[in-house]
Amino acid sequence: MKSSEIRQKFLDFFASKGHTIVASSSLVPHDDPTLLFTNAGMNQFKDVFLGFDKRPYTRATSSQKCVRAGGKHNDLENVGYTARHHTFFEMLGNFSFGDYFKREAIQYAWELLTEVYKLPKDKLYVTVYAEDDEAYDIWTKEMGLEAARVIRIGDNKGARYASDNFWMMGDTGPCGPCTEIFYDHGAHIPGGLPGTPEEDGDRYIEIWNNVFMQFNRDEAGVMHPLPKPSVDTGMGLERISAVLQHVHANYEIDLFQALIKAAARETFCSPNNRVGTRTLDELDRDWAVVRENNSLKVIADHIRSCSFLIADGVIPSNEGRGYVLRRIIRRAIRHGYKLGMRSAFLYSIVPDLVQQMGTAYPELAASQQRVMDILQQEEERFFETIGHGMEILIAEIFSNRGNVGGSQKIETLDGETAFKLHDTYGFPLDLTENVCREYEVGVDVAGFNAAMARQKEQARAAGKFKMAANLDYDGPASTFHGYETLEHKGNIL
Ligand code: ATP
Ligand code: MG
Ligand code: MG
Ligand code: MG
Repeated sequence: MKSSEIRQKFLDFFASKGHTIVASSSLVPHDDPTLLFTNAGMNQFKDVFLGFDKRPYTRATSSQKCVRAGGKHNDLENVGYTARHHTFFEMLGNFSFGDYFKREAIQYAWELLTEVYKLPKDKLYVTVYAEDDEAYDIWTKEMGLEAARVIRIGDNKGARYASDNFWMMGDTGPCGPCTEIFYDHGAHIPGGLPGTPEEDGDRYIEIWNNVFMQFNRDEAGVMHPLPKPSVDTGMGLERISAVLQHVHANYEIDLFQALIKAAARETFCSPNNRVGTRTLDELDRDWAVVRENNSLKVIADHIRSCSFLIADGVIPSNEGRGYVLRRIIRRAIRHGYKLGMRSAFLYSIVPDLVQQMGTAYPELAASQQRVMDILQQEEERFFETIGHGMEILIAEIFSNRGNVGGSQKIETLDGETAFKLHDTYGFPLDLTENVCREYEVGVDVAGFNAAMARQKEQARAAGKFKMAANLDYDGPASTFHGYETLEHKGNIL
């Protein structure tokens, strides 16, 4: 089943259960300063859950564009490292606004998975919130799951991607206990059941979260009961597609194969590739190697978030949302650079993306040319400095190579160099960190911050601060830290 059919089947199933099909909202949240980008299907219904807004329906279903590259749910650092995380993904969801609650939500989810998608029951495991006896009983007594398949999980704050069965949209807003459904991809893949120390592996992959929305969390962390208990669910289209297409990683599904091939065509076959080009025939023959290439996966991931963000009106800049976009674009460019590219290439993958997703998201098709233009411009700009910056960075990483008997690499990149890369060569700090991570080298972030503060102070003293902030190539990235600080106050712009 192609991912487009899987998406449609989901919407049709819930429509047949009385749900209104609602279009995806923009990636740029409407009038919600607590949120960087839309990170879940429920975002557009936040006020309905809170009782501030009413809709003509009490049941809805959608396929929502989501970006998790900042804020509470940030998966940017997971891309390229796990089989299941993207910066951009589609969240399939069904919602009840004070209509049905736990029982029907669980029944619908189980019916869709086992009868419509026909997943084998013995591959599925579920988690429930530790104290939620009601959900536990529905799964074990009414749905007939053996106790060994239903795992109780408490709050798991602090763990990196450990399961946590109390879902929150952000630090404030609607939240509640949840029950999650996992698929076992097989004993050949490392990883353990949720709640075990090995759970961060990719064997048991979370496919669907059913949240029982019951509270509104305020800034002081106090939970206020919602006017009516509601349901909010989210299933990653790419993850359920991987299951239904009998592949393990999201990157192996139809849609990603097409994007990875397009990325390979633009990089491996490009006459602008200084490292070595291949013909399309050679590419086809080498597909087994190409599909394993991590840089291509990252490019395929990033082209989606970047294109959809631009289509929704975000423009690369040095501030707020625009700076997050710029950082993702520069990461993608750097992977192209790693593959040998020395000039703009990302924008040429946009038509392939439109071919894959333009029907489901007409706004993407409508802005194809604009997306390409903005990307190309941003690429040309960064290609002017990335080469020099990379030379400095790699030389620094290997600056111990003369040490006889010692490590060839440094342990930590100093803050001054990280700042110079940022200030002169347009390397966002996270890009430098990302490159260093591949060499298992840390970055002195405190030193970076100190260097930045010093530069700002000097500029201010010289009375040039205003000019520097407005006109500099990459500006003193006050934005990067401004964003972090402001975010705490619940305002990111
Ligand atoms: P994980 O534990 O794997 O990071 P999550 O618990 O953070 O996922 P939820 O917030 O519960 O995810 O979101 C609901 C669903 O959306 C998940 O069950 C998953 O199918 C999908 N999903 C979440 N994050 C991503 C992502 N970065 N890329 C692709 N799909 C995702
Ligand atoms: Mg997560
Ligand atoms: Mg999870
Ligand atoms: Mg989850």
